[in-house]
Amino acid sequence: MTAPHSVVDPRPAGEREFEVLDPATGTVISTVPDADAAAGRHAADTAAAAFPGWAATAPRRRSEVLAGTHRLMVERTEELARLISRESGKAQADARAEVAYAAEFFRWFAEEAVRPDGRFGTAPDGRSRTLVAAQPVGVAALVTPWNFPAAMVTRKVAPALAAGCTAVLKPAAETPLTALAIADILREAGAPAGALTVVPTTRPGDVVQALLEHDAVRKLSFTGSTAVGRLLLRQAANRVVNCSMELGGNAPFIVCADADLDAAVEGAVVAKLRNAGQACTAANRFLVHEAVADEFIAALAEAFAARTVGPPSDPGTDIGPLIDARAVRRIRALVDDAVGRGASLAHAPAAVPETGSFLAPLVVRDVPRDADLATTEIFGPIAPVLTWRDLDDVIASANATEYGLAGYVFSRDTARAVAIGRSLDCGMVGVNRGIVSDPAAPFGGMKQSGLGREGAQDGIRAFQETQFLSVA
Ligand code: NAD
Repeated sequence: MTAPHSVVDPRPAGEREFEVLDPATGTVISTVPDADAAAGRHAADTAAAAFPGWAATAPRRRSEVLAGTHRLMVERTEELARLISRESGKAQADARAEVAYAAEFFRWFAEEAVRPDGRFGTAPDGRSRTLVAAQPVGVAALVTPWNFPAAMVTRKVAPALAAGCTAVLKPAAETPLTALAIADILREAGAPAGALTVVPTTRPGDVVQALLEHDAVRKLSFTGSTAVGRLLLRQAANRVVNCSMELGGNAPFIVCADADLDAAVEGAVVAKLRNAGQACTAANRFLVHEAVADEFIAALAEAFAARTVGPPSDPGTDIGPLIDARAVRRIRALVDDAVGRGASLAHAPAAVPETGSFLAPLVVRDVPRDADLATTEIFGPIAPVLTWRDLDDVIASANATEYGLAGYVFSRDTARAVAIGRSLDCGMVGVNRGIVSDPAAPFGGMKQSGLGREGAQDGIRAFQETQFLSVA
């Protein structure tokens, strides 16, 4: 793969640049243009100019571009995975899995692009026909986080383009290279200039505000923290911009006394340690029935201790570095606080490299319910375990959070597990499994974890406007 280049088109002259760092070593991987508000406006102009042509392009042709992008991403799995690993610190196996997941959004939405739904009917009084059809909402502003540098991009770009929208993508400053590489692939697969413009920046506030103030921008699709989501909802209100929000989580992982503990531990490892715990769907609180708590904790501690923490360049690494040293300090403080309040470590943490932002996975037991470790989004490889006796209590405690993204339930009695799952205020629930992400299923949160859904049929609707014609 050629070195990724900016697809800000044309690239404004005299632009500043910023450095992209490798979190395992702190070394500079590359530099990219640092967009400012003017570059954001220019990108929106470019997308606006391309919009009528792309919206009028036959769905079959749009579908072929997306299908071609899927094919090229799969062919280039190794190169893309290396790039993801380098800029985000993700272990190689996690990075390859991300490429497969990310590419799948192009395949799924290539299939959805040619299945636009609509309705035709007769008004109840018999005097008019009702024609309902979808239209692309317009230019979309897409804002993505660093933790899944490919999948968070493709989960927005693929449905936006499938619907006939053009888009401006502002990737996280930590991981712009994967976004630029995907934009290059999209263009190679036949997307016209202006269909997607990428604006890497260290000034996200300025650039996103410029996008939201631009007359052509009719949609904001944001993935990131709840705090920034709230801020952007306020800004979007000024022009009543249509918003989709994929925000933070605090997923409960409930283990019942009758759970298959091997399956629960296997699920817990995936739900907690995928991407070193830096996933919005990561299990954040392990709520384990007191009858099986000791056994579960011992098995989970053994599984955690067996994971190798190291640089992602090493193929034997299971867990790479966290995104930066600040994240390590923040999480260590959460653990120290919980231990100060009576919690204890279930095992000795594994050795980690001395340089780079590494943190060993850790099971922490007897965590007080109101400790920050249990109430805030950890975003790292730490598993706080709390015990329970009464089912109503544990459901109330699982729901006692402003978040409602993912949840997990383990019980051998599937009907009971499903019933518990249905009582959780979570947009997604894993029943006897530790992973919920699936491009063909609606991904998103309840409460302050978000608005709307990505993936499935819902994903394309987020980029469409419904129009009704009353025909005499
Ligand atoms: P973040 O909110 O700090 O940043 C997300 C994006 O917003 C980045 O592109 C960033 O540059 C941009 N941004 C930051 N400040 C901004 C501002 N003032 N105006 C406009 N844009 C701004 O989040 P993060 O640290 O990159 O990602 C971690 C968070 O994302 C976690 O809370 C995680 O749960 C959440 N997340 C949610 C999902 C989901 O699907 N629900 C998926 C992945 C991550």
